[in-house]
Amino acid sequence: MAHSVYGACAACGYESGEVWVGGGRHTFKTNEPFPAMCSHCHCVCDINLKVDVPVCSLCGSTQVSLYFPPPSDPGGRKGQEVARTFDHYITDQDYACPRCGRAALKFRDGRLAC
Ligand SMILES: [Zn+2]
Ligand SMILES: [Zn+2]
Repeated sequence: MAHSVYGACAACGYESGEVWVGGGRHTFKTNEPFPAMCSHCHCVCDINLKVDVPVCSLCGSTQVSLYFPPPSDPGGRKGQEVARTFDHYITDQDYACPRCGRAALKFRDGRLAC
């Protein structure tokens, strides 16, 4: 089941658009989007885990890094899962922000679709 999330940075105020975790019921074998950071357009985008060379959904660049595994928490806390697709998941931990580079980006729940 596809699930959307939004990323927001507490340090610089950056907010991402809607990005997807997992493909739809009919397309999941060929399309499995997952949030990533694009270092070309400095945005949170989604990339397709099913292709060999994933590209940014916003600018088409290959300079993307997947938001997985979740950042390691100094306190050893394991984050709460926000959204999951098979083996990949997003937690409520602080991820690196594509704009300011600080670990202050949090994902929140968007909507479900199938
Ligand atoms: Zn930021
Ligand atoms: Zn991009």
